[in-house]
Amino acid sequence: MAEATPQTIYLKDYTPFGYQVDEVHLTFHLSPKATRVVSRIEFTPKPDAVERSFFLHGEQLKLIAAKIDGQPVSPDVTAQGLTCDVPSTPFVWESEVEISPVTNTALEGLYMSNGMYCTQCEAEGFRKITYYPDRPDVMSTFTVRIEGDEKVLLSNGNPTDSGEGWAEWHDPWPKPAYLFALVAGDLVNHPDSFTTASGQDVELNIWVRPGDEGKCAFGMEALKKSMTWDEQVYGLEYDLDIFNIVAVDDFNMGAMENKGLNIFNSSCVLASPETSTDANFERIEAIIAHEYFHNWTGNRITCRDWFQLCLKEGLTVYRDSQFTSDMRSASVKRISDVIDLRGRQFAEDNGPLAHQVRPESFQEINNFYTATIYEKGAEVIGMLKRLVGDEAYAKAVALYFERHDGQACTIEDWLQVFEDSTGRDLSQFSKWYSQAGTPRIKVTDDYSDGTYTLTLEQSTPPTPGQPDKDPRVIPVAVGLLGQNGDEVRGTEVLELTEAKQSFSFDGLASKPVPSILREFSAPIIMERESTNAERAFLLAHDSDSFNRWEAGNTLAKEARVAMVLDAAAPDADYLDALTKLVRDDSLDPAFRALVLSPPSQSDLAQTLFERGHTPDPQAIYDAAETFAQTLAEALTDSLPRLYADTTVQGAYSSDAESAGKRDLNARILSLLTRLDGGEAAARQYDAADNMTQQNAALACLLKAENGEAQSQAFYDQWQGDRLVMDKWFGLQVACSAPKKAASAAANLTEHALFDLKNPNRFRAVMGALAMNQAGFHYEGGAGYQLLADNLIALDALNPQTTARMCSAFQTWKRYDSTRQELIRAQLERISATDNLSRDTNEMVSRILNG
Ligand SMILES: [Zn+2]
Repeated sequence: MAEATPQTIYLKDYTPFGYQVDEVHLTFHLSPKATRVVSRIEFTPKPDAVERSFFLHGEQLKLIAAKIDGQPVSPDVTAQGLTCDVPSTPFVWESEVEISPVTNTALEGLYMSNGMYCTQCEAEGFRKITYYPDRPDVMSTFTVRIEGDEKVLLSNGNPTDSGEGWAEWHDPWPKPAYLFALVAGDLVNHPDSFTTASGQDVELNIWVRPGDEGKCAFGMEALKKSMTWDEQVYGLEYDLDIFNIVAVDDFNMGAMENKGLNIFNSSCVLASPETSTDANFERIEAIIAHEYFHNWTGNRITCRDWFQLCLKEGLTVYRDSQFTSDMRSASVKRISDVIDLRGRQFAEDNGPLAHQVRPESFQEINNFYTATIYEKGAEVIGMLKRLVGDEAYAKAVALYFERHDGQACTIEDWLQVFEDSTGRDLSQFSKWYSQAGTPRIKVTDDYSDGTYTLTLEQSTPPTPGQPDKDPRVIPVAVGLLGQNGDEVRGTEVLELTEAKQSFSFDGLASKPVPSILREFSAPIIMERESTNAERAFLLAHDSDSFNRWEAGNTLAKEARVAMVLDAAAPDADYLDALTKLVRDDSLDPAFRALVLSPPSQSDLAQTLFERGHTPDPQAIYDAAETFAQTLAEALTDSLPRLYADTTVQGAYSSDAESAGKRDLNARILSLLTRLDGGEAAARQYDAADNMTQQNAALACLLKAENGEAQSQAFYDQWQGDRLVMDKWFGLQVACSAPKKAASAAANLTEHALFDLKNPNRFRAVMGALAMNQAGFHYEGGAGYQLLADNLIALDALNPQTTARMCSAFQTWKRYDSTRQELIRAQLERISATDNLSRDTNEMVSRILNG
């Protein structure tokens, strides 16, 4: 069936639903091809309703029967839902529909993964389960009965009764339909328990396929830590008798916070030292925390409409980053978050897909689960906290929970609690939600008669639909250093509110060295004339660890920019500083690893583009290679010792300190491989008893084109493990030289274990290709064509994952006209595909026309 002309939905058109839903009863008769869903829903017309039409969403449902107050009715059914004449007094709606979970490859609604039933309802999947007002501001209690042959039958809330082949659940907390969940399968559990601060016992379970029981302990510990942390830091306790997590192999997202029944992509919960890397462990801990924290920020207080998505996501990402900072190293977490923000969100915010943290229109909400909503949304919360202070933040958030528990809210509600509890006017601050684009701050300074003056000038480039921007409130954290490296002024937060504003510091004996935007206090791009000598000074002396790293990162960037533009040799002073830093055992290994990690090639492309150049991905790649080779040679004498010193001995532990050391060790191994051709890496591969070291060694060997034997051995060892095989697929592409990347990816799509229907496997190959910048953009456009072929094939099965992957093309206008034409041709080819999904259609047209 062809999609009707895509309809754009606007925030300004919001109207509340005209009926209140008092109670929902659902009965599921499970069957792979013909599941019957019987609903019984109590509606009460709202006396003050503006909108009186009774419309229930419903897509891909076969309506068997419908009744109102027990009498059969014949509603008007379309592809989007149904309308029906209803009484003006409270009434009971009943319907029976049939759905086919086994053929549901879109993985929205009720579907099957490896023989188990599971659901994904956010954002608009519930309408593929039954007819319902599928909008987040309609909240109700749910009672669910599941009938099926599976051993385990789960839904939201608390279990109320069960018997052979059936189970009943009741969720006492009113919730929107997007938080509904059902799981049925022959699963096994890893059980535990938790007692809340007020003494409530909670049963905890992680449910997995038989064979995966051994990979649950870490996730369970992370869950318990999250529960304790939320009690201690936010005063928020869990509110049901049971909390279930289920691991699912086929899942579009990372995980989903359904009330009391979180469903996880198995890659985001299953962990063991043999099969998971340190990065996996850290990510799992963060995602478990994130979904758990949603129980309050998202579930108890939800979003009024999907334009408010950042209300739950920005806040919850902010909360999970606070959690990770507390569990691990706060400065390493901040640096990693900024690297990620610049890599993904800045690319989005400075291209055709730029959109507000709270968008004002969309065609397909699935396309707005973006870095802007999540990560920039979290940065906005961080700025708010910085502006009002920690105490006022805690007070305002407490008021938010007190005032809005059980409600569906807006960004205005969120800002109002801050205004009410602090007396501050946040109307200018709210522009962070309504204006897209990354602000630039141009910094100039002046020193005379003991007074140092910083002048900050802000501007934001045009973004689609927003040519002009007003000045925002930008917190700029600044410290000043004396010429000897001592801090002469501790961190102060300057509040930039005007387009151009000056700030003075009196009583200084000599001209200070400024450390600006400490802790990356705002998600902006700073433009300031500086020298490598000053950067090296900050790298050596700044007391703010973020800015220390930033100084090194800027040096690294400038060295590569000079190599790309002027065919310069790697900057000698920077190389010298770097070799000293790497050898400095007094520094935290995780910090040394971050200083050693080069700026990403996409970050460099963005920087060159900002400065008016056309980035050449191959030249950027070549500069990175030359730089790494020169660094390795400069460290020739030290590398073997450094490698030995940073090798973590003894049984594997996933703690932050060991992980930081292993990260540094992997970076040293990659330098060493440039000198020894892979001897040390091959030894490490053979000796490794954990995936972090095995994976790092294989990556080095593949990059050195000397890893065929190990790659085969890895494959033989792990072919039965879907998650580890995702790593194998990804490494083959990620480690390919640019000219071979597209053909490596193409060969892998022919592999027997490649499965278009599994989003993790698809992303392992196509995501790795898009991330291999020089490979993806290699001359001739084979990478573009391969990705487009696969997007077209996947769109017919899974629009959501297809649309999201289209963003690989979002930076196309940075490149030369030949590349632009090659990409345009592929985008137009995708766009011309018959029956293209609404999701993909919207993304491609935004990229082409934005
Ligand atoms: Zn979330």
